[in-house]
Amino acid sequence: MSQHWDVIVIGGGAAGLFCAIEAGKRKRKVLVIEHSERIGKKIAISGGGRCNFTNIHTSADSFLSVNPHFAKSALARYTPRDFITLVQRHGVAYHEKKLGQLFCNGSSQQIIDMLLTECAKATVEIRCGCSVHSVAKETRFVLQTNRGALESDSLVIATGGLSIKPLGATDFGYRIAEQFGLQIEQPRPGLVPLTLDSDMLRRFAELSGVSLDAIARFGKVSFRENILFTHRGLSGPAILQLSSYWKPGKPISIDLLPQLEDMSFLEDEKASSIELSNLLSRYLPRRFAHAWCELFAPSKPMRQFNSRELEAIATTLHNLEIVPTGTEGFKKAEVTTGGVSTNELSSQTMESKKVPGLYFVGEVVDVTGHLGGFNFQWAWASGYVAGQNA
Ligand SMILES: Cc1cc2nc3c(=O)[nH]c(=O)nc-3n(C[C@H](O)[C@H](O)[C@H](O)COP(=O)(O)OP(=O)(O)OC[C@H]3O[C@@H](n4cnc5c(N)ncnc54)[C@H](O)[C@@H]3O)c2cc1C
Repeated sequence: MSQHWDVIVIGGGAAGLFCAIEAGKRKRKVLVIEHSERIGKKIAISGGGRCNFTNIHTSADSFLSVNPHFAKSALARYTPRDFITLVQRHGVAYHEKKLGQLFCNGSSQQIIDMLLTECAKATVEIRCGCSVHSVAKETRFVLQTNRGALESDSLVIATGGLSIKPLGATDFGYRIAEQFGLQIEQPRPGLVPLTLDSDMLRRFAELSGVSLDAIARFGKVSFRENILFTHRGLSGPAILQLSSYWKPGKPISIDLLPQLEDMSFLEDEKASSIELSNLLSRYLPRRFAHAWCELFAPSKPMRQFNSRELEAIATTLHNLEIVPTGTEGFKKAEVTTGGVSTNELSSQTMESKKVPGLYFVGEVVDVTGHLGGFNFQWAWASGYVAGQNA
């Protein structure tokens, strides 16, 4: 005999739990199935253990999707203010770190505890260590699991993306989408460090560990934040943001001196005896300035450079072109770009247009946020709208 539920949510992460809470509040009988031994593993380690749970500047512009308008409806119906109200009601203290990013003062566990309390209040049942072998749609959805057969009227897929397998990531959501004939946008690692070839790494070896304020650009997209040189390539917030947009084989460009608009800082010292590396040390970390000169313009007194050379130096400082060899992959990616095509889903409810009763929420959908709390806001908002309907 299979057990019957109004709503089964597969995936006990941010989006799945939020959807379950909202459906439970509507008196739906809700079960959350999580294959790991506990729910919310990504929440636990997010934001360096303090969970950057939302961003007060959330708008559709902070998301990537083949359809940039898709996220608007859910984001408007469940806003950062709504989540902040919930967090305050649970007495979770928080602060803005920078750029609208809200973090817990204490630990991410407070967000998990808050979600579990809300689940209990809404009489949501959670089963961890439960794996789904198959899903079929008859009159209802029929799931075969390691704990027996289950049936539900609505089925919500909240299994997230492919990033970081030890935290429970699987391709389950994409497989279910394919099984029901839904289109997928190629999943790729996002918010991930970029790698460089061995020649470039040797040349940049001196810079490993150096972090500086820069503008990283790819095509029309640019981010001004820190970049970090690592022993594998480039990282830091500006690079992570850009990585979600970067296309393999294409160059990115870096402005190492975004605070200086042109080359006048070089021209002003044209007649001076100051060494180039010392001049650059006024604006860049000393170690970086010296290493940069070794790579691109052997340091000598400024008066010994001619105008053409100064122009070339300015170009390399403001527009350093690099072709990354790749990314550090799903092992290191904070998110997965791509996913279930938004063409397949209602933006109001996240329900499949082809398969009534089947919903996709959170990261499994082709909506990916920038770094800074946007991905959780999408998880809450998409979970919320599905929970009103499922
Ligand atoms: C290191 C790290 C730090 C991050 N920090 C932040 C941050 O501070 N702020 C922010 O906004 N975003 C952050 N993110 C991104 C954010 O965690 C995700 O975008 C968000 O968790 C997505 O929510 P989700 O519910 O869709 O998926 P997940 O949170 O990934 O949840 C999916 C759940 O489904 C379960 N599951 C998978 N397959 C199955 C299956 N077959 N059967 C049953 N269960 C299954 C998984 O175990 C998991 O519990 C971070 C990500 C990482 C990796």
